[in-house]
Amino acid sequence: MALDVSADWSVLALVALAGLMLGLFIAWAAGRRQAARKDSDLSRNYFRGLNYLLNEEPDKAIEVFIQALEVDEDTVELHFALGKLFRRSGELDRATRLHQNLIARPALPPSQRQTAIYELAHDYMSAGLYDRAEGLFEELTGNSEYRERALLALVRVYELEKDWSAAITASRSMGESEQGNNIRMLHYYCELAELGFAQEDMDVVATALDAAQKLDPKSPRAIMLKVQMLLSMGKCGEALDQWEHLVSNQSQYAEIIDDVFLQLDSMSKTQQRRVLVLIKKIVLDLEDLPMAEKAIELCAGLDGQAAADSLLHVWSNNCSGPVRIYALKRLVEADGETSAEYAALANFALGSEIESTDYLCSECGFEAKAMLWQCPNCNQWGSLMRQFGNDIPAVKGSQG
Ligand SMILES: [Zn+2]
Repeated sequence: MALDVSADWSVLALVALAGLMLGLFIAWAAGRRQAARKDSDLSRNYFRGLNYLLNEEPDKAIEVFIQALEVDEDTVELHFALGKLFRRSGELDRATRLHQNLIARPALPPSQRQTAIYELAHDYMSAGLYDRAEGLFEELTGNSEYRERALLALVRVYELEKDWSAAITASRSMGESEQGNNIRMLHYYCELAELGFAQEDMDVVATALDAAQKLDPKSPRAIMLKVQMLLSMGKCGEALDQWEHLVSNQSQYAEIIDDVFLQLDSMSKTQQRRVLVLIKKIVLDLEDLPMAEKAIELCAGLDGQAAADSLLHVWSNNCSGPVRIYALKRLVEADGETSAEYAALANFALGSEIESTDYLCSECGFEAKAMLWQCPNCNQWGSLMRQFGNDIPAVKGSQG
């Protein structure tokens, strides 16, 4: 492996020091029962190892720690701690070497060998060597103590490989024991459906969405993909029924269906009016700026510019965030509003920046500028939620 990520050795040394203290404590406690000479060798080796770490000579440090293992099998836990430390510092070559050395020791007890294999698999995973990680995790699924952890890690490997079918199979093996399993599987089926769209294979899309909706009929992602599928099949009426249901019940997810707008031309006027009603609800519920722009365009096309201006007036009074700024700007730019109240509001609005929407992970607090179904920070599925920006303060004479 040619991964050379620079480590913060001062932090590494501090943590190693903590490990050393623990090691010395264990050695001291064990010393009550063991020979004094053995303790002394152990302590001396750990001091030498620490010295190498402080001198930024981690390879020599590893050699000394491995020698210490020759002295006392009880120190193996310290090796695991050091291995984790190397991995977290991006020193993947060193972590791998340390765990391989442990596995190579014939005298290592079976339970510690499983731990070493599990840790080595994580080293491979961190290094992007997914096939090697996969092989080791698969081996560990045969061990009752590691089975669930190994399956969970395998699922993560398949996610990284985007092998959604394998991820579903591994998740099914976990049964009901893993919390959040159904949520993950639902998103794997949705991923399969999206692949089906990319390959223009509607059978794959339909089968995957049926399986997803069996896991959760209310899943907004599955409903949106279904809307997309129905639209691509020209079933605009059915698609609008599904979308309407989503907007009524979970409007925070409804803004993403671009396909509705792409198919507008193939819809009847009545269907286009249904779309306009739904978008207007989303704009009011979510202060969604792109939706506001689309609504104005659609409204002007269906009912003329006067109707669109009238909608802008409604939003300038009833919305409080970016949609209000947008409405005021449009009204002032069109010079369609000259009253003193609007002039005052417009002064404020024109000096305001329209901020883009943020999405926040409810699990880890990660912020994104676009909707993502899997959090890139904590890997949780379906945890990103739309955030509402700060309200614009009310200007004299207006209702917020
Ligand atoms: Zn997260």
